Amino acid sequence: MNNLPTFTKTRLAPTPSGYLHLGNILSFLITSALARRHQAKILLRIDDLDRSRVKDAFIDDIFETLHFLEIPWDEGPKDTADFKSNFSQVQRMDLYENALKELAEKNACFACVCSRKKIVESGKSKGYPGFCKRLHIPLSRKGCCWRYGTSREKSVPIIIYPDQLVNSDFPVGMKDYVVRKKDGYPAYQLSSVVDDVHFGIDLIVRGVDLWDSTLAQIDLASNLPDCQPFQSAVFFHHQLMKDGEHKMAKSSGSTSIQFLRKNGAKKADIYREISKFLNLPTLATSHDQFIELYNRDASQQ
Ligand SMILES: [Zn+2]
Repeated sequence: MNNLPTFTKTRLAPTPSGYLHLGNILSFLITSALARRHQAKILLRIDDLDRSRVKDAFIDDIFETLHFLEIPWDEGPKDTADFKSNFSQVQRMDLYENALKELAEKNACFACVCSRKKIVESGKSKGYPGFCKRLHIPLSRKGCCWRYGTSREKSVPIIIYPDQLVNSDFPVGMKDYVVRKKDGYPAYQLSSVVDDVHFGIDLIVRGVDLWDSTLAQIDLASNLPDCQPFQSAVFFHHQLMKDGEHKMAKSSGSTSIQFLRKNGAKKADIYREISKFLNLPTLATSHDQFIELYNRDASQQ
């Protein structure tokens, strides 16, 4: 445990578009353990820009679940009312719009009027097929989204926890990804980078399913002068808990903490589940015990 790098701040970043499930808790607890290991502060950042899916009940659920599991945080909203008054992403729209304006001024993005159907039919796994890339549709056109023009040849430098710098190929599936949605709101990739820089985050814990997003975000940050600090952030991508064969989803419900509690699960049961998944030598039954076991277990280094 000697010579550990120090980090200033990490974050819990749930999206209130469903009830929190075991997979979210896994991510929160690893974040909490690494924060303790490196004396980093924890910010609670609730991403609420997906306006059509965000519900108050889901925001309430975040606070209720964190309290139920006694997972602490140092900065950010203390409850739903505080979140809505002081921490909603809607209140940081000018930051996102400034970033979008910078990209537009650099000709780093283009307008796209393709329907989702058209893109899916062309084989989405290879990324955007480039239909609108050379059409020079004005960015001011109503109902278009903005795509960030990516370069396939590029490799992206990423710092993997704790301090290993590697270069990774730009992910094919993220080709020309969306930075501003058709509804005019910034897309997740952009708001996430801007927020992490705004709040001074230097350690980011997330699931391996976000690996491609991470690379896209680092590349995006390299094009935004205010977002340079994002390039020196350190990333920890953890394995995902599965619901049978599938990735745990908010829509399935049976792994949501709400559901488990209604069926009699206690705090200790949730901690045992997460401990089992991580193969901890002993099953934790509380937050502090989890942190101690996780940080003691050399295989998690
Ligand atoms: Zn298009």
